[in-house]
Amino acid sequence: VRVRLAPSPTGYLHIGTARAALFNWLFAKHHGGAFILRLEDTDEERSKCEFATDIYDGLHRLGLHWDEGPDVGGPYAPYVQSERLPIYQQWLSKLIETGWVYQCFLTEAEIEAKRALAHAENVPFVFRLSQEEALINANRLREGSHEFVYRFKVPDDHPPIVVHDAIRSDVTFDVATLGDFVVMKRSGMPTFNFANVVDDITMKITHVIRGEDHLPNTPRQLLMYEAFGETPPVFAHASMILAPDRSKLSKRHGATALSEYLNMGYLPEAVGNFLALLGWSPPDGVEVAGLQHFASLFSLDRIAQSPAVFDIDKLNWLNGQAIRAMALPELRRRAEPFLSTFDTSHWSEAKLELLLDVVREPLTRLNELPASVDYFFQQDLTVAPDLQSDVLAPDEGQKVLAHFIEAFLPEAPFAAASTHEALADARTQMIEALKTFTQSLKPLKPKAVMWPIRAALTGRVHGAELAATLVLLGSECVMTRSRRALAVQSVSP
Ligand code: GLU
Repeated sequence: VRVRLAPSPTGYLHIGTARAALFNWLFAKHHGGAFILRLEDTDEERSKCEFATDIYDGLHRLGLHWDEGPDVGGPYAPYVQSERLPIYQQWLSKLIETGWVYQCFLTEAEIEAKRALAHAENVPFVFRLSQEEALINANRLREGSHEFVYRFKVPDDHPPIVVHDAIRSDVTFDVATLGDFVVMKRSGMPTFNFANVVDDITMKITHVIRGEDHLPNTPRQLLMYEAFGETPPVFAHASMILAPDRSKLSKRHGATALSEYLNMGYLPEAVGNFLALLGWSPPDGVEVAGLQHFASLFSLDRIAQSPAVFDIDKLNWLNGQAIRAMALPELRRRAEPFLSTFDTSHWSEAKLELLLDVVREPLTRLNELPASVDYFFQQDLTVAPDLQSDVLAPDEGQKVLAHFIEAFLPEAPFAAASTHEALADARTQMIEALKTFTQSLKPLKPKAVMWPIRAALTGRVHGAELAATLVLLGSECVMTRSRRALAVQSVSP
């Protein structure tokens, strides 16, 4: 098995391309085959280095490393189409010798006029040379004009072309619907269809797994395999990814570039998991798993024929799972860019890990981190006016706070050191101490005790475990914030 991802560097790595990459990678891994990356940069105007870099980067971040490719080389190098021009010339010569292609001298304007005519007659535009045009063409050839393209001559009497697809049933194309298509442009650049086939042949590709949007290209590509006398690869066209409104997934529905998702704090593991399920279903029904597991189960016949719908709630759910399952040192590393607005210089690694551990439960994305940890870093904590008047200022709240400051804090088991062990010990003891404290304030309900303390220390009444919060804030900060809250007066109406 030799499969490839053949992206065009004309945009950032699209979610759909990332999924195609993943399906190819899973298939290669399942069969112990090779996964190849080939850059299809024949669109000179739209291809950009920054897009190629984004594609490499995105694939690496998903863990989809390739066995052969532009940067790593391989037995069929080069893997960048613009570096393979002599190869396309050789393969074009074969088609010239066998008469499958002809030089077409028609100008852009003349072709446009043909297209306009078809449009006016309300028939689909299918490029064929008329007798008259064939004469003009022959004259220009004789005159030695250099303004020409090579077109593939689609035989009129060719039987219908059947695409046998590994995912869907046979698709039949009538050759009358296929115009003579360009294989080599005026600039000497091959067209997508031609270069794609030459590369798949010369790189010994066995399976072409790609999006359904390429299905209309396949009959033309099959004609070229026939012209070259080569056996075509197995084709597998996966259905498109649709937005929840069942229209084509586009910018209007939100991010379409993989990097946008990763930058929002979706973990590559979760995105990979999500993409694998976007049109494929594991036979064991286990939906939360790593790519190696999916690879062990992967087969083309479990790729759905119906379109996959991009369900952001599912991605959010998978991402939340991944955040909660991740080992803390690793989560700490991934969280780094999202904590960069805070001064963490006085925080030990162990403290940062404990912090992430206590705030990660409700997270769906890492970019929610700043809002969920900001109170740990604020110099002057802001408590919303309604919390001040409803929770802090009432007599009951003030009584709890006074008691907290006088009876609880002096004895509270804060951690002297900030090693993992010291923090863990302090956290356990703090849980016990808080229990005893709540008991001592009976008959007040736990909520009546906890809310004023939480509001005073964190500016909110829900949030991370209070015991760990106390340990992380440290005795001095806790004391300052509690005292400040004790002074809070009801805002007069
Ligand atoms: N360059 C094509 C694309 O980016 C590749 C098509 C294929 O996989 O054959 O869509």
